[in-house]
Amino acid sequence: MKTHARVVVIGGGVVGVSTLYHLALKGWADVVLLERAELTAGSTWHAAGLLPLFNMSYTVGQLHKYSVDLYKRLPAETGQDVSFHVTGNLRLATNRDRMDEYQKYCGTANTIGVPFQVISPREVRELWPLAELGDGIDTTKIVGALYHPDDGHIAPADLTMALRKGARTRGAEIYEQTEVTAVKRTASGEWHLTTNKGDIVAEHVVCATGNYARQTGRLFGINVPSIPVEHQYIVYDESPELKAYRQNGGRELAVLRESDESYYLREERMGWILGPYEAGAPARFADGVPEWFGKNLFEGDLERLLPHIEAAQRRVPSLANCGIKDIVNGPIAYTPDGTPLVGPAWGVRNLWLNEGHSFGITAAGGSGWQLAEWIVEGEPGIDMMATDPRRYGPYTSKRYVVQKNEETYRNVFVIHYPDEERADARPAKTSPIYDKLKGMGAVFGQRYGWERANWFAPAGVEAKDQWSFRRSNYFEHVGNEAKHLRRHVGVIDLTPFTKHEVTGPGAEAWLDSLVANKVPTKIGRIALCHALTRRGGIRSEFTITKIADNHYYAVSAGAAERYDADYLQQMLPAEGVTLRNITNSRGVFVVAGPRARDVLAKLTDTPLDNGAFPWLTGQVTEVGLAVDVYLLRVNFVGALGWELHFPIEYAHHLFDAIFAAGKEWGIAMAGMRAMESLRLEKSYRMWGSDLSPDYTPYEAGLDRFVRLTKGDFIGKPALEKQLKDGVPHRFITFEVHDVGDADPLGNEPLFDSRGNLIGRATAGYYGHALGKSLGLGYVTPEFAAVGTELSILVLGERRRATVLVDSPYDPENKELRA
Ligand SMILES: Cc1cc2nc3c(=O)[nH]c(=O)nc-3n(C[C@H](O)[C@H](O)[C@H](O)COP(=O)(O)OP(=O)(O)OC[C@H]3O[C@@H](n4cnc5c(N)ncnc54)[C@H](O)[C@@H]3O)c2cc1C
Repeated sequence: MKTHARVVVIGGGVVGVSTLYHLALKGWADVVLLERAELTAGSTWHAAGLLPLFNMSYTVGQLHKYSVDLYKRLPAETGQDVSFHVTGNLRLATNRDRMDEYQKYCGTANTIGVPFQVISPREVRELWPLAELGDGIDTTKIVGALYHPDDGHIAPADLTMALRKGARTRGAEIYEQTEVTAVKRTASGEWHLTTNKGDIVAEHVVCATGNYARQTGRLFGINVPSIPVEHQYIVYDESPELKAYRQNGGRELAVLRESDESYYLREERMGWILGPYEAGAPARFADGVPEWFGKNLFEGDLERLLPHIEAAQRRVPSLANCGIKDIVNGPIAYTPDGTPLVGPAWGVRNLWLNEGHSFGITAAGGSGWQLAEWIVEGEPGIDMMATDPRRYGPYTSKRYVVQKNEETYRNVFVIHYPDEERADARPAKTSPIYDKLKGMGAVFGQRYGWERANWFAPAGVEAKDQWSFRRSNYFEHVGNEAKHLRRHVGVIDLTPFTKHEVTGPGAEAWLDSLVANKVPTKIGRIALCHALTRRGGIRSEFTITKIADNHYYAVSAGAAERYDADYLQQMLPAEGVTLRNITNSRGVFVVAGPRARDVLAKLTDTPLDNGAFPWLTGQVTEVGLAVDVYLLRVNFVGALGWELHFPIEYAHHLFDAIFAAGKEWGIAMAGMRAMESLRLEKSYRMWGSDLSPDYTPYEAGLDRFVRLTKGDFIGKPALEKQLKDGVPHRFITFEVHDVGDADPLGNEPLFDSRGNLIGRATAGYYGHALGKSLGLGYVTPEFAAVGTELSILVLGERRRATVLVDSPYDPENKELRA
């Protein structure tokens, strides 16, 4: 075995081999893969080989599309057949919400170029003559379906072998029966891996160990939030009806998915494979894969499968005539959100994860492609935030991951409502005033482990969401919260914000080298600053306040805690700067609205008038009994207001004091959904949806937050080049007309008057104070002028839209500067 390689990939399943292939494809030939048994020995050998293109995520959708395209060309490139049956894929719908889900997905599919058709029950009959359309009495009636003509199923082992061949032809090496058992860092910062076949030193390591992800992570000192769950499919004997259909010239039937009954069905040698996602499937190996497991399977559990077998027999009656040949029950890697972990690990350099794949056959091509790009180029080619392992934080305890993974597994086929908030492993992380908010009718959601109040049910209204793709039971109440804040005063609990303290003589210069804006030089000034990728895309957004000389306070999105902390830590110079993550030691309340000054004036002696406390400034002061409060005159709702960032032990006191002071103006809470409505009215871009590495600050219309003259910063050359070459997209705010009950929500395609695709929405909702259905998004520059007429596809309906002025509510910012 080699003793040194540029990259060592651990794990020879389809994902590891694809990573190796793509590294070699990018010209890195000094790459090695180590597999403890033989290739495909993990989950890959027993996978059913389905390649569903369907995925609600813009990122994962792109990965799946890449895979399917790659797998079609691999046989010609490598000479290895992969048994790709392009049968098409049919997803049935038996109710309107399911059709809404498909239509919402179609928006995403449009923007990433995945071919699909929404078809009628009659067309289902033509494509799938062995299925019952349903009479509504014994079998639920089909109301329509989503058809992907391009996907199908593949032989996972053959696919792995084709990727292996492609990698080895380009110089990559593979060692089987070679298990990594220990890891250390060399003095020069490389990885020293011990295996049963000798040692190897590598600059980079990729973990692609499937069900072993947690124990591999432990070798490197990290807690990888992936634990497998049992997953089963049934292999049936020959079906006489299917055989007759095929012998009469019928083509191989599309993979059939009856989402509302949570199963898929595909042909297998004139018989069937039926794969349910059933309730009660347990997580396995939470403490590691036992030595004896090897290439084993679990005992089949027919009991759990029965409801799905019965449902499938109602839809495809001839299934009842087939005997069951086998039940395959294997471990399938899961993560709490069901999306894999593809990207850098945290807290250590040059360690990469390609773990947690539950659709690993489908995702292997795309995840290998982007991970190789990331390792070789230093950053991925597309926005990979959805798969970035740093989207999770230290809160992913074993029990949390077990509970969430079991929940995610049994919910694979549920309708993926945009406002869905799942119940398991909650509440986990709460703001100190959680119980108070609950008492006020809060309906919570969870993000990054934190409970956040989405809206508040008034007295007499059930504090519960009715999830929907359309305006739902909370619409009116969210509207009241937003309007109350615009007219009087409201409070928002934003305690989950990520907060960093940056101190030391080098603090200013260091921050300036990371962000595009000039960081404040005067004590008390606040600046909105964006850290960019080298390609000029937006990687993070920080609100930076200069607290004192050599002391900065940087606030960023709550869900970005590990993502930002890891980046800042990696970029930290050897001396002159001290970085502290103080997220959990400060709480945050926003007090905003025309009466915000009156409320706070009762609680602090600090003058709050415009002269003493102008917009975009902050002061360290006392509020009520609380000391050391960072009072910042900024907010994300575009109203007169302050954010109070206070030592967390004052949360109860401040909350009570603010509500007592605001009583005469009817002070009220506003939740996350009201904030969404309010920020859209101000065209405030949200990190993670409107702001991403896919777009530069110029494309995002954030030119005023870029200072090309200030000296070097990461991404500056790319911005200069873009200015010279032309900015390819422009950010717009638009109104959607004749909406009915479905506002845009993001990821809808935008068209010009002739029906050409010209861009995509990144967010949308109803602006309650403006009384307009609003969207944010990107279009090619010629369509960005105010007044331009566009159209948008919302749940399958083409709607007229008009480009509005940026910040359509109070465009001159009179209210927030009042
Ligand atoms: C019943 C079932 C059906 C499925 N059907 C589908 C499907 O139809 N479509 C789909 O897309 N997905 C399907 N999947 C999921 C799919 O099988 C997995 O997502 C995929 O195989 C994961 O590949 P991987 O390379 O990440 O992991 P694995 O295939 O598990 O490979 C990991 C490898 O790492 C090796 N390894 C671990 N630790 C070490 C170490 N320390 N040193 C060296 N080597 C190590 C292991 O031996 C193993 O070979 C199915 C899964 C199951 C259980």
